Amino acid sequence: MSDVIRLDKLPEKVIIPMRQHDGIACAPLVKKGEEVLVGQKLGECEGSDLAYVHSPFCGTVESIGLMPNPSGKRILSVVLTPSECTQSVEFVPEKNASPSRLIQIIKEAGIVEYYEKPTYLALKPEKRIDTLVMNATFPLITHAYLGSLDKVLKGFSLMLEASGISRGVIVVRADDKESIKAFKGAVVDGKPLTIAPIIGKRHADYYLEDIDDRIIVVAAGKVTYTPTMMNLLSADVMGRKVSLGHEPSDVHIVVCGVKSAKAVYDAISEGKPYLENAVTVIGAVNKPGAVIVRFGTPIKDVIDACGGYKGEPGKVIVNGSMGGVAIYTDEAPVVKNTTGIVVQTKAEVLQDETTACIHCARCVDICPMNLLPTRIASYADMGKYEECEHLYAMNCIECGACAVVCPSKRHLVQLIKYSKLQIHNICAAEAMEEATK
Ligand code: SF4
Ligand code: SF4
Repeated sequence: MSDVIRLDKLPEKVIIPMRQHDGIACAPLVKKGEEVLVGQKLGECEGSDLAYVHSPFCGTVESIGLMPNPSGKRILSVVLTPSECTQSVEFVPEKNASPSRLIQIIKEAGIVEYYEKPTYLALKPEKRIDTLVMNATFPLITHAYLGSLDKVLKGFSLMLEASGISRGVIVVRADDKESIKAFKGAVVDGKPLTIAPIIGKRHADYYLEDIDDRIIVVAAGKVTYTPTMMNLLSADVMGRKVSLGHEPSDVHIVVCGVKSAKAVYDAISEGKPYLENAVTVIGAVNKPGAVIVRFGTPIKDVIDACGGYKGEPGKVIVNGSMGGVAIYTDEAPVVKNTTGIVVQTKAEVLQDETTACIHCARCVDICPMNLLPTRIASYADMGKYEECEHLYAMNCIECGACAVVCPSKRHLVQLIKYSKLQIHNICAAEAMEEATK
């Protein structure tokens, strides 16, 4: 099994953002100078799209204000000086809870999916759902949880129970032998899990029709399905195509992560809120690998736990070198949706210097969504976001394939991502104007 480091060394300073999901920010419940315990609720809010924030550390509140964040923006955060004390608030496990109570516990624990949606909302969409899919296609992250696979599977079962969804499908990469071996040896509902490879048109539904297992493991291709690739996952694994502008729940599928399944187990069986995650660190560090990190820990401490920078760092990118965000300071903290950190050296960054487009169309040929990456990126660069929208920029799944093949090293994904953000902002402004007429 791959080595996983648990980062127990106390950081000098901990930054806990009051918004770590896609939704409403929490209001701080603590004041400067106050002592806090592990698991204490630090932020709360009201509304339908919320995720409470808890303290993973004991310590003293140093300040509350705008602090660096891996999103690239400064976010209202509680800054703690952590202490050696390990005292926690009382964690109360729950047994035989009803489905509605399970959802309430998941909500109270502040669990958030890797694609930033609060888990209690993901499990209760206002649509008919028949399959809960666990995306275990990030091999390093999945390996970090293989040591507690029984808890992950129990958490996944509890998610099915809470949501009333009848079937669960766990998706692993077909070349991830370590995970497949571990899942093969696991037992659910008194019998070993079925491993179902995707062959031709045999998708997960094909197996589910023939066997009565509540949960199966599907080994699918060599693709790591990132948060923006969930529609592709639904099509590849379940054989259900998601039309443009729709989401997996429109074809009766909800997607969750390995981390959230473990967090659901912790919340229900141990009474713990969501306090830590596994994060992968790759690139120019001395010991690349997976690290279990408490939220709020500065990224520089995670890099130190991996033996520190190898050479002179040029860029630190959070959540993938293709679609992720290059952070301007490694003081920014690990938050609930942080999955990976990539470090590039200065030399690597300089090697990637952009030159003019040579119109080779390699980016067009490779795009799985049949888009025109070169045209969209050029319009985004010129600030012509309406044209980007007409070229279906919003359908880009940020897979990064266009940037990989581009001989001119153009920043295609970053430009397309930026155009998506601008289109989103324009639509939101128009909706607001319409509502106030
Ligand atoms: S990142 Fe590039 S290749 Fe991937 S979907 Fe978007 S435009 Fe197409
Ligand atoms: S791959 Fe790069 S150089 Fe070729 S057309 Fe696309 S953007 Fe231009």
